[in-house]
Amino acid sequence: MIEDLKKILLMQDVDSRIDRISAEMDEIPREKLIHEKELESQKSDYDKEKSKLEEVRESSGKCSEVKVATEKTLAEFKNKLLEMKTNEAYRAMMEQIKFAEKKIGDLDSQIIEKMYEEEQGEKDLVEAMKIWERNTRRAEKRQNILDGQLEVLKENMEELMAERIDIASGIGKRLLDKYEQLRTAGRGLVVVGLQKGACGGCLTNIPPQTAVEISQGETFVCPICGRFVVWKDDSSMAGA
Ligand SMILES: [Zn+2]
Repeated sequence: MIEDLKKILLMQDVDSRIDRISAEMDEIPREKLIHEKELESQKSDYDKEKSKLEEVRESSGKCSEVKVATEKTLAEFKNKLLEMKTNEAYRAMMEQIKFAEKKIGDLDSQIIEKMYEEEQGEKDLVEAMKIWERNTRRAEKRQNILDGQLEVLKENMEELMAERIDIASGIGKRLLDKYEQLRTAGRGLVVVGLQKGACGGCLTNIPPQTAVEISQGETFVCPICGRFVVWKDDSSMAGA
């Protein structure tokens, strides 16, 4: 195997580590976004509980206001009752009084019901706040860990990039261009091993005589995919 190809193999190794690290780096903002979405949804749960409680309190306040007004009317009715001149008018006023008394009774039940709702609403609000706060703390911790990981990955990346520049400087321009071209095209490995007598990249069979030459250290360019086919530790001949 010519010296340049050995360097290309080194480069390939560095590049696959670069790919792994860049995939890990991409994963970090994705995870952060998931935590942010979770917190947003918990904040919105808390807001919902809060406005629900406010509604209950408002409606309870209205019931109390109506009750006060109805009690006032009832008192007026009771005073007027004494002034009624006919039986008919008296009965009609009694009806009004009964109606007002019933309304007050209904309002009392509603007010009690609202009290229970308010009590439950307060508990629910506290619970929603606890969940939101707990997860905010947890997310902050996780964010810090992720930020730390990102720093380490960046450092590793810088080292690998420097290593890559170093290796590239020792490779001939034509071969390097070819390597970059295949890599950019997303063809994966540029130097592949002979595998079962075929190109390890595109699996095209290689003539037996050429395969023998490869096994003796010759380098061969696959006519189909353009990769360099070499003899590697795990290489094998056809039928092996
Ligand atoms: Zn091939």
